[in-house]
Amino acid sequence: MNRLAVVNCSELVTVAGPARPRIAAELRDLAIIPDGAMLIADGRIEVVGPRSEIERWIAPDGIVIDAAGNVVMPGFVDAHTHPVFAGNRANEFEQRCTGATYKEIAAAGGGIRSTVRKTCAATEDELVASAQRYVNWFLRNGTTTIEAKSGYGLNLEDECKLLRVIRAIQPLRTVPTFLGAHEIPDEFRGRRDKYVDLVVKEMLPSVVSQRLAEYCDIFCEPGIFSIEDSRRILTAARRLGLGLRLHADQLSNSGAAALAAELGAATADHLEHTDELGIAALKSAGVQPVLLPGSVYALGSKQYPNARSMIQAGLGVVLATDFNPGSSPTPSMPMILSLACTQMRMTPAEAITAATINAAYSLGRGAEIGSLEAGKCADFVIHDCRDYREIPYFFGVQHPSAVYIEGKRVL
Ligand SMILES: [Zn+2]
Repeated sequence: MNRLAVVNCSELVTVAGPARPRIAAELRDLAIIPDGAMLIADGRIEVVGPRSEIERWIAPDGIVIDAAGNVVMPGFVDAHTHPVFAGNRANEFEQRCTGATYKEIAAAGGGIRSTVRKTCAATEDELVASAQRYVNWFLRNGTTTIEAKSGYGLNLEDECKLLRVIRAIQPLRTVPTFLGAHEIPDEFRGRRDKYVDLVVKEMLPSVVSQRLAEYCDIFCEPGIFSIEDSRRILTAARRLGLGLRLHADQLSNSGAAALAAELGAATADHLEHTDELGIAALKSAGVQPVLLPGSVYALGSKQYPNARSMIQAGLGVVLATDFNPGSSPTPSMPMILSLACTQMRMTPAEAITAATINAAYSLGRGAEIGSLEAGKCADFVIHDCRDYREIPYFFGVQHPSAVYIEGKRVL
């Protein structure tokens, strides 16, 4: 048996608690053990507690990891990313700096469509290589699991190619999501219904029969995919056994949050324009909101989602990066925590809960990852700080000094 002991943690931030997403005041309880220690056997956590109680159980033949008086936390679970794409859009970033809007750039042939053209032209090996580069960025920022979406293929062959690339990613844990309805491809412009037909009748059944995805997502927005399109695609996905996630109410309040509730989706993501009615609908159906402040920041908008109302309403709030080459080119959960605290008035503890255990539950992994508790996977990070609040406070810093996935050091 492969035994590890982690000792000398100024704070062992366990995020232990009930076996469900944390809501309301629970988000502020990180279940911290001061001067904590943890024993691990074959990649699973055996016990956590104060060092004085744990030390005598350390196996003589085991490896001892000295955290050197630093914070030890669960790895971040990033529940919304788009990590497989070719090229980047630094040119469009420069255009936006000088005043062009995201919509103007998209209308001129840029935006998601330009990434789709490059991604379709790239080979699977090229995409694996570029994705692995981003995987290192996630690890360096303390993330150990990502939800990863396709969506830059927009045809059956290329969407499957992207999902295979997601499956090949190492050593980060990944949860694959099919996002064939990310944008209307060039060849279907003016024939949106035909593309929805293709997604429902060909792409979804093929993706499911190859077991390439666990979830189906859609960009539900007037002018892209309507509420009706979204209902059709997501209902078909649900019938095939996929879980549901939605890009909802990002650019306007279109009723997408209510649709997420109607369909019993796992998550509704973005929600910058969701009102109190939408929040009440999410609550009634137990849909978790996934908030993506990085995209608000990177687009230069001020319209952050109303996290305080969502917490007050009792929603299991999640934070994620939305890592993608257009609207949110950051893999950094610490940056997202900083934005959540400064722009959305979440406390550091609420932000950490949203980025770990609540994110894990939103991916159906709450029993496996997201907290440091007996029986769970030993996915943890040693941060170069003494107090967990330093993580969002010292922003723009890569705090992790060591990252472990299932008890194996990966950084
Ligand atoms: Zn997204």
